[in-house]
Amino acid sequence: MTVKRLGVVGAGQMGSGIAQVAAQAGIDVLCTDLNQDALDRGRAAIDKSLDRLVKKEKLTAADKDAVLGRLAFSTEVAGHAESDFVVEAATEDESLKKLIFQSLDEVVPAGVILASNTSSISITRLAAATSRPEKFIGMHFMNPVPIMKLVEVIRGIGTSDETYRTTAALAERMGKDTTVSRDFPGFIANRILMPMLNEAFYALMEGVGSAEDIDTTMKLGTNQPMGPLTLADFIGLDTCLAIMDVLHQGLGDAKYRPCPLLRQYVDAGWLGKKTGRGVYDYRA
Ligand code: NAD
Repeated sequence: MTVKRLGVVGAGQMGSGIAQVAAQAGIDVLCTDLNQDALDRGRAAIDKSLDRLVKKEKLTAADKDAVLGRLAFSTEVAGHAESDFVVEAATEDESLKKLIFQSLDEVVPAGVILASNTSSISITRLAAATSRPEKFIGMHFMNPVPIMKLVEVIRGIGTSDETYRTTAALAERMGKDTTVSRDFPGFIANRILMPMLNEAFYALMEGVGSAEDIDTTMKLGTNQPMGPLTLADFIGLDTCLAIMDVLHQGLGDAKYRPCPLLRQYVDAGWLGKKTGRGVYDYRA
C-alpha cells in the first residue's frame, strides 16, 4: 500500500521534522497539534529548515513552495479521517499518548496504520488502547529528522507483517534506512544512548567535571559529534527524563535511575534548547 496522505500528530521538533521530510518525498501531510501557537511554531521551523536547504542549493525556491503546498495544519484531530497512515509525535507521556490513540482510533478508518514516534514507551501497551493492534507500530525517527538517516521500527506483540512492510516502505520513501527492534523499554537506540546521557548528569552533579569538560572529553575523547550534555539539551531534558523513567520502571534495575539533577532541571522548566535554557543557556 502506498501512502498518499500522511497524518502527523504533534508539531514539535519531531512532528514538524517528520511532516517536512514526508512533504519533501511528495506526500500530502496533515499536521495537528493542541493549539494554533504550536502549529505556527512547527510551520516556522519547517520554513527555516527549507530555507537552509535553498541556501545550500539542495532545493530550489520553487521546490520549497511545492513542499509547503503539500502541508496542511489544523487543531482538529477529526481531519485525520482522510489520512491513510498516521504518525503520532506528541509529548513523551504514556497516558497522553493513549488518549491521542483512543481518539485517532475513533476517527481514522479501521484499515489505516497508526504509528508512534515514542522514544521508549511500550508499543504493545499503546496498541492496546486501540481496536487495531495488528495495524499499530513504532516508527522512531531520529532528531533532527531532515538530517538523521535512521528510523528504528518497533513491532508490538500484535503488529502484522503487512503493517511492518508498509511502515518500512514509507520510511524508505522518506529517504531513511530502517532497523527493527523488539518492544522492550527504550528499544535499541535509547536503551544504549540514554544511560550515557544520564551518567553525564551524575558526573556533573558529583562535580567530576564542568559541563564543558564533560562534553569536550566525550566529544574529542570518544569521537562523538557532540558531548552528552549538549545532546541532552538538544533532545529536550523532559524527553530524556521521561525515557529514563520508562527504562527504570520497565527494566526494574537501579542502574537506570534518573539523575536527580536532570529531574531538577526539568522541574525548573529548563528543558534545553527548545526553551532557551537547559544545561547551557541559549537565550543570547
Ligand atoms: P516537543 O516538546 O518538541 O513537541 C511535542 C508536541 O506535542 C508539542 O508541540 C505539543 O504541543 C504536542 N502535544 C502535546 N499534547 C498533544 C496532544 N494531546 N495532541 C496533539 N499534540 C500534542 O517534543 P519532541 O521532541 O518533538 O518529541 C515528540 C515525541 O518524539 C516524543 O514521544 C519523543 O520521545 C519522541 N522523540 C523525540 C526525539 C528528540 O530528540 N527530541 C527523538 C526521537 C523521538
